[in-house]
Amino acid sequence: QDVTTDVVIIGSGGAGLAAAIEARDAGKEVIVVEMMNVVGGNTLRATGGLNAAGTSVQKALGIEDSAELHFEDTMKGGYYKNNEELVRILTSQAADGVEWLISLGADLSNVGRMGGSSQDRTHRPTGGAPVGPHIIQVLRENAQAKGIEIRLETKATEILVKDNKVVGIKVEEKDGKVYNIKADAVIIATGGFGANLELFAQLNPNLDGFGTTNHAGANGSGILMAQAIGAAVIDMEEIQTHPTVVPSNGYMITEAVRGNGAILINRNGERFVNELETRDVVSSAILAQEGKTAFLVFDNTVKESLSAIENYIRMGLTVEGNTIEELAANLGIDPAALSSTVEKYNEFVLTGVDEDFSRGDMPRALKEGSFYAIEVGPAVHHTMGGLLINSQAQVLDTEGKVIPGLYAAGEVTGGIHGANRLGGNALTDLIVFGRIAGKSAGNQ
Ligand code: ADP
Repeated sequence: QDVTTDVVIIGSGGAGLAAAIEARDAGKEVIVVEMMNVVGGNTLRATGGLNAAGTSVQKALGIEDSAELHFEDTMKGGYYKNNEELVRILTSQAADGVEWLISLGADLSNVGRMGGSSQDRTHRPTGGAPVGPHIIQVLRENAQAKGIEIRLETKATEILVKDNKVVGIKVEEKDGKVYNIKADAVIIATGGFGANLELFAQLNPNLDGFGTTNHAGANGSGILMAQAIGAAVIDMEEIQTHPTVVPSNGYMITEAVRGNGAILINRNGERFVNELETRDVVSSAILAQEGKTAFLVFDNTVKESLSAIENYIRMGLTVEGNTIEELAANLGIDPAALSSTVEKYNEFVLTGVDEDFSRGDMPRALKEGSFYAIEVGPAVHHTMGGLLINSQAQVLDTEGKVIPGLYAAGEVTGGIHGANRLGGNALTDLIVFGRIAGKSAGNQ
C-alpha cells in the first residue's frame, strides 16, 4: 500500500532526526524510515561531544573561543582537503545548533577538549556523560511530540525519480512487504559505510581485514542508492581508522592506554611494534600477527593513571592476573615468554632506550599487580567521504547540478571533514547540516 507525505527521511540518526524536526517546524508532514529496530544509528555510539564555538555554555564558563578558530582547527585537522564553504557553515552555525538542542531540552553544560581543538569547545552532558544517547533521546522525544512518524525495520531500497525530479522512495519492511512512500522531498541521512567491510577494503586495500566500530546499519546503502540516480560522491577513499578496538563488540580503547605505558604483545608473548607509532603503522603491525589481533598489556600503575580503564574493567573487556605469568596463562600465552618480554621492556624503561622498537616515551615500568590485558585489533571508525552537497544540503549530480527534491546530511555526505575528522565535529556536522536539510526540504 503506497503512502504519500511531504518529506521522507531515510535514517533516524542525529542528522535524520534534526532534519525531521526542522521540516516539521516548517509545516510539513514528515515520515522517517529506519532499517534497524532502534532509533539512533551510529549517533547512539558517540561519546566525545559536540564542538561549537561561542555558545552560552562557553560564555558561562569563561571560555573564549570563536567560529574562526573552530574553522581553522577543522581545516588543519582535515589537512586542508575540506570544502571551505561547508566548513564555514559548520563552524558559524555550530553555536546556534547547541542553543537549539538546549531549547529542546538537552543538557550540554559540560565543556571539554578533544584532539586537534585549540580551545575547550566539546559540549556534553553534566559530568561528561555519553552525549550520543542523550541527544538521540531529546531529538526522538521532540520528533514524536511534534507528530513525526518513525517507521522502524523499514529499509529504503530505491530513490524514485520522475521527470528528472525525486518523487519518493521504495521501502521494504522486515516481513518483506514492499511499497512506495511518495514525497516532494527525500532527505538521505543514512550515515557512513564504516560497517561495510567489503566496500571500504575495495576503496582502500590497506584496510582489508579491518573490523569496525560502527553499528550494522552503517552499510553505505544511502550513497549507493543516490549514485544509482546520478549523484556525485567525494573523498570516498578518506576513511578514519583506529588501531585498538575490541574485536568482539567494536569498542574503541583510547590511545591514552598506550600513551600512559601499556605495551602491545602478540600470541607468542612478544612485542612487535613501537606502540606509539602512527595509527596506520600500528594497525598493519597488528594485522600481521597471528589471529590478526594483539593484546594491550599493562599493570596497576597504568590502570591508576587513567580513569577510562576502570570503565573497561567494569565492561568486562580486560583479562586479569596477579602476576605476569598468571595473566599469560589466562590469555593462553606462554608465561615464560611474556614474563621475559616484560622484564626486558622494564629494563628499557630504566635506561630510557627501547633497543627493540625505538619507542620514545616509556612513562612507567610494568611491575605492580594486578596485571591486565585487552584484546584489540584495527577497525574503521568514520568515513569522511560521501555524497556531494551544496550549502543548502542539496545533493549534486556528477555534472555539479542540483538533483531536484534530493537532500543529504550527516556522515552520508562528504567534503566537510576533508582527510580527517576532528573528534567532536561529527555531531556538529549532523546537527548543523541535518537542520539545513530539514529547512531546505521544508521550504522547497
Ligand atoms: P548520522 O550520524 O549521519 O545521523 P547515523 O549512523 O547516526 O548517521 O544514522 C543513520 C541511520 O540510517 C542508522 O540508524 C541506519 O540504520 C539508518 N539507515 C542506513 N541505511 C538505511 C536504509 N537504506 N534505509 C533505512 N535506514 C537506513
